[in-house]
Amino acid sequence: MEIIHVSAECYPVAKAGGLGDVVGALPKYQCQSGDIAKVIMPMYRTKFLYEHDWTVDFKGHANLGNWYFDFTVIKEPSNKLGFDLFLIDINGLLDRQKIYGYEDDAERFTAFQIAVVTWISSWEHKPDVVHCHDHHTALIPFMMKHCYDFQHLASVPTVVTIHNGQYQGWMGWDKSLYIPRWDLWKRGMLDWAGNINPLASGVKCADKVTTVSWSYMEELRTNANGLEALFEYEKGKCVGILNGIDNAVWDPAADSYIDHPFTVKTVTKGKAQNKQILCEQFGLDINQPLFVFIGRLVGEKAADILPDAIKTAIHQTQGKACFLILGSGDTSVEWALQQMTNDYKGIYNAYIGYNEQLSHLIYAGADFLLMPSRVEPCGLNQMYAMRYGTVPIVRTTGGLKDTVVDMGDPDGFGIRFNNATIDDLAYSIGRGVSVYQDKAHMEWMRKHMMQIDHSWEGTVDEYRRVYQSLK
Ligand code: ADP
Repeated sequence: MEIIHVSAECYPVAKAGGLGDVVGALPKYQCQSGDIAKVIMPMYRTKFLYEHDWTVDFKGHANLGNWYFDFTVIKEPSNKLGFDLFLIDINGLLDRQKIYGYEDDAERFTAFQIAVVTWISSWEHKPDVVHCHDHHTALIPFMMKHCYDFQHLASVPTVVTIHNGQYQGWMGWDKSLYIPRWDLWKRGMLDWAGNINPLASGVKCADKVTTVSWSYMEELRTNANGLEALFEYEKGKCVGILNGIDNAVWDPAADSYIDHPFTVKTVTKGKAQNKQILCEQFGLDINQPLFVFIGRLVGEKAADILPDAIKTAIHQTQGKACFLILGSGDTSVEWALQQMTNDYKGIYNAYIGYNEQLSHLIYAGADFLLMPSRVEPCGLNQMYAMRYGTVPIVRTTGGLKDTVVDMGDPDGFGIRFNNATIDDLAYSIGRGVSVYQDKAHMEWMRKHMMQIDHSWEGTVDEYRRVYQSLK
């Protein structure tokens, strides 16, 4: 089966969050299981681009409204990532430092999608499935089905996976001229609440829609940033498939980013050694339990409650806990978290920014990982934490609910709470401080978590079943 993944992110080429991890891993494991999976993504100016050689695979041109543009498809020829990787270069539009966050993102990603479909339609064969990820690529099913120039692709099955339904890519109808000549009777397939809504269009036009956990699939029917009714209506073609994690990249026994690799057998010693490095680097007290947060500092992740929840927990536990934050996002939250480094020296520190290497060391050296998320479609951090023997403290939502069992339940190994509030999070930190005193219980939880199978193999089978249902 030939599967074409189209995405804005793919680790290690360009990653802003979980989407990158998933698109960097799923195709690799699909290829290992005998299918042909390929990834097409924009060519940004990333380190990966400059550190690798590329061959030109295709040169084409297209229009974005009245703007005529040339594009080039380049390929990484050595199959380094375990799948064929293609980058689309649109001069001046995609070749920038950042993935997102530009005023013309609507133009950038619409042009990208037009280039993708233009290229695929030039092939002599048709792929078995085109698999689009999130709103940046969710106009592709519409283009394949309802744009006159791509009509011969209308029969190619399409799947849209929603990694994050909060972001939908809305644009005003004035931008409809960007979409190549389309069947005007199909206006409803683009529209939601008076705007062009790429994610809604993807849900309407794709043959199957998947989300990255079972609980998130359910939640979207009641909480989908305005698309609730659509998810309720389209529930027949929606499937929840829990993400896996890339055990080759996230392997505490062979992680090149950490100085002290460890296995299930050596977890207690290994974590202590990594914790020592972390505590020395950030001036923290090694004798206290270390609570960490890694992620985007945004409302979805409830990062805004971190400063007050941490202060409350420090007060309630009389300073018997240390905290380390790694993240970037809303400037007010960054500022509040940075300010606290002056007030709580020795028990609190923060690294404001993105640092892949440090994230590995933190998963390896921390005792507890905080995830108070308001919305968490799947969440990879808690699964990485578990693989590195770090106890997850999570709000009961989305993929967190599907992957973490509270330590009060049979075979439980984590801490769960219901509300993204300062009190609930501080209380849960208190539970962590208490259980940390019980060395035997901590060791049992660490060993138990590390052996849970979150590998991609099972997930790959579920995706294959989805593709086969479309034949
Ligand atoms: P989301 O995709 O919503 O941001 P996920 O939990 O699915 O959340 O994935 C987050 C991924 O991004 C994880 O691999 C996490 O380690 C990584 N990450 C997030 N913020 C940072 C950061 N500041 N530095 C390093 N890695 C980060």
